[in-house]
Amino acid sequence: AARNGEDGVRGYVPSMGQIFLRRFQLVTQFRHALESGQVEVHYQPKVALPSRRVVGAEALVRWSHPEYGRLSPDEFVPVVEATGLVDALTSFVLERALGRIRGWLDRGLRLSVAVNLSVRNLADETFPERVREAFERHGVPPELVTFELTESSVMADPDRSLPVLRRLRALGVVLAVDDFGTGYSSLAYLRQLPVDEVKIDKSFVLGMGTDLSDMAVVRSIVELGHSLELSVVAEGVEDDAARDQLVRMCCDTAQGYLISRPLSEDRFEAWLWARTSG
Ligand code: C2E
Ligand code: CA
Ligand code: CA
Ligand code: CA
Repeated sequence: AARNGEDGVRGYVPSMGQIFLRRFQLVTQFRHALESGQVEVHYQPKVALPSRRVVGAEALVRWSHPEYGRLSPDEFVPVVEATGLVDALTSFVLERALGRIRGWLDRGLRLSVAVNLSVRNLADETFPERVREAFERHGVPPELVTFELTESSVMADPDRSLPVLRRLRALGVVLAVDDFGTGYSSLAYLRQLPVDEVKIDKSFVLGMGTDLSDMAVVRSIVELGHSLELSVVAEGVEDDAARDQLVRMCCDTAQGYLISRPLSEDRFEAWLWARTSG
């Protein structure tokens, strides 16, 4: 973990007391935040390569805190994850996503949404059944939802998480390994995981233009993914050079600021409308 003050952005080093107080506040305030509209789901488009056709979006949570302003999920998701509340977060995001997918279907658009799961969801044997019920209630085909999970969240307790993953997959959802290439990710594990998609970590994609080893890592992951018959997604695609390179490598899907930043529900609808009606 980074040491206090290493990020240097705020210009002062918060004390341990301040850090714990803030974390404590975030945990105690989160449920109210969910219920009172402070938490929103934003959507970042994913496009097919090379066609640039929109295939769906990743759902990314945002918290506008009354005192601290717009909080990054990198700050509050880990705090929420350490408590039972992450269950409420995942349900909230899934409910929103299913509502959107249903709305698009009613307008003749077949788009999928990727939802990030936490290690707690994977350890929860009741999770697949609750997911199934939600699909049924919304009338959404399960193949229109992708669940993104990191290898470390699966490997934290494989005896619990693998049965959950298998049941989710049996429902027909798409499973993706997120942040691939970081942590303990390895070939052997990828082969054994019941997944359909691998998402190359953005650090490698961002580095491709300046760092040959990042380029080599991206190429290897695309080849590895394809040899295992997995679909390969690159995130962190910020410029044309990266996109063109990914096309040459035959990467399947791209996500990143080049295509769009994550957008609020309304702005994503407007973006979609402009993209699909011209
Ligand atoms: P992630 O799942 O790896 O999500 C991708 C992150 O990369 C997002 O950050 C996104 O805004 C950012 N990103 C997308 N395109 C680009 C690009 O072209 N360049 C750069 N530099 N960054 C890009 P965000 O939204 O801040 O989310 C951070 C992390 O918080 C996510 O990483 C995910 O681990 C977690 N998170 C977000 N929403 C949820 C959620 O609903 N549930 C859970 N469990 N975790 C979530
Ligand atoms: Ca993700
Ligand atoms: Ca990621
Ligand atoms: Ca990440």
